[in-house]
Amino acid sequence: MKILVINAGSSSVKYQLFNMENHQVMATGLVERIGEPHSSLKHQKYPKQPGASEITVEQAISDHKEAMELIGKLLTDPHSGVIKDALEIAGIGHRVVHGGEAFHDAMVMTDEALQAVRDHVPLAPLHNPANLTGIEVSISIFPGVPQVGVFDTAFHQSIPAHAYHYALPYEYYTKHRIRRYGFHGTSHYYVAKEAAKYLNKPLNDCNFITIHLGNGASMAAVERGKSVDTTMGMTPLEGLIMGTRCGDVDPALHVYIAENVGLTIQAIDKLMNKESGLKGICGSNDMRDILEKVRKGDKYAKLAFDMYTYRIKKYVGSYCAVLGDVDAIIFTAGIGQNSPDVREAVCSRLNNIGIIMDTAKNKQSCSSILELNTSESPVKILAIATNEELEIALQTHRVIAEG
Ligand code: ADP
Repeated sequence: MKILVINAGSSSVKYQLFNMENHQVMATGLVERIGEPHSSLKHQKYPKQPGASEITVEQAISDHKEAMELIGKLLTDPHSGVIKDALEIAGIGHRVVHGGEAFHDAMVMTDEALQAVRDHVPLAPLHNPANLTGIEVSISIFPGVPQVGVFDTAFHQSIPAHAYHYALPYEYYTKHRIRRYGFHGTSHYYVAKEAAKYLNKPLNDCNFITIHLGNGASMAAVERGKSVDTTMGMTPLEGLIMGTRCGDVDPALHVYIAENVGLTIQAIDKLMNKESGLKGICGSNDMRDILEKVRKGDKYAKLAFDMYTYRIKKYVGSYCAVLGDVDAIIFTAGIGQNSPDVREAVCSRLNNIGIIMDTAKNKQSCSSILELNTSESPVKILAIATNEELEIALQTHRVIAEG
């Protein structure tokens, strides 16, 4: 069975075709700058043939429909393709950022489900419209193939009311849907499942703290396999310090900055989402650059690094208190999987809460899963490669199988 995974952005479409018999990727690609004169599509089929390189198409691609038609053509082309006919695709899984309280799980995109995604556009105005376009276009180009929405928010729908409410007047929740939703759910769930497999325990017997550190970053407290708290909130701005996002700040800063710096509310939103975080402190939002600068003695990079790891450490302590017993803390995504420096700074002096790192093991590189704790550590420390696309394919497969 073959499943196509689609991640549609406002001017881009990423795709991966999976063979679900062995979970191998058959083809991947990325269409960029849709709607601009110089759009491009990069396509790679697997296994890579000796001498055959990635295919690049450079032409104007005016909209998502054209992009999807091109993807369908490349996947079925005798030279670049990996299937004979689009009908070989058993299902298409779409990443959807915001499912609000309507989606607790992946779901077939019926007219009713599509309307529910539309209803959530105000909660994710930058992402849901593009995700919706991706689904609608895909339905028109691949008619008869089941289309499944997989939501970043769904895994966090198990968070209890006392953890998801903000202490605002209650009607801000009932009338305006203001609450903690959380994001990166597909990744938190995937690494939790992988960790349970590694520990040889059923997921619903495991308590984990999952730490997703990519350009965006978030943590989740996972109790008996279910998310019970997460650092991102109503929007992906809350919580950890990120590449360009400030994470937690005093909510009264908006008023203070408006009155004293003279920025509009929209400019403050941009400041906090695009100009803050690691970039705001030291000028770079890329952890590899920052580590290089720290090694050269740059004091701003050192401050950014210290702030970044301190914030994660605070949440580790907080989620230990939430969970009581913790089986493992799990580092994932670009920084979590690959940066021994970040992991070591986060785990330093946590012996008293049972998190004891083996600093030599921590320096090894992690291709899929790596255990980083000493043999005496009551809590395991794991680095795990996340795979959100595979998780979308797995959920799509399951939803189709369930009929
Ligand atoms: P995205 O959220 O865009 O998917 P990624 O998960 O790819 O992001 O993470 C990007 C971040 O990972 C960047 O800050 C990058 O510098 C960092 N990163 C990647 N490899 C390493 C490494 N070996 N050491 C430290 N940081 C790394």
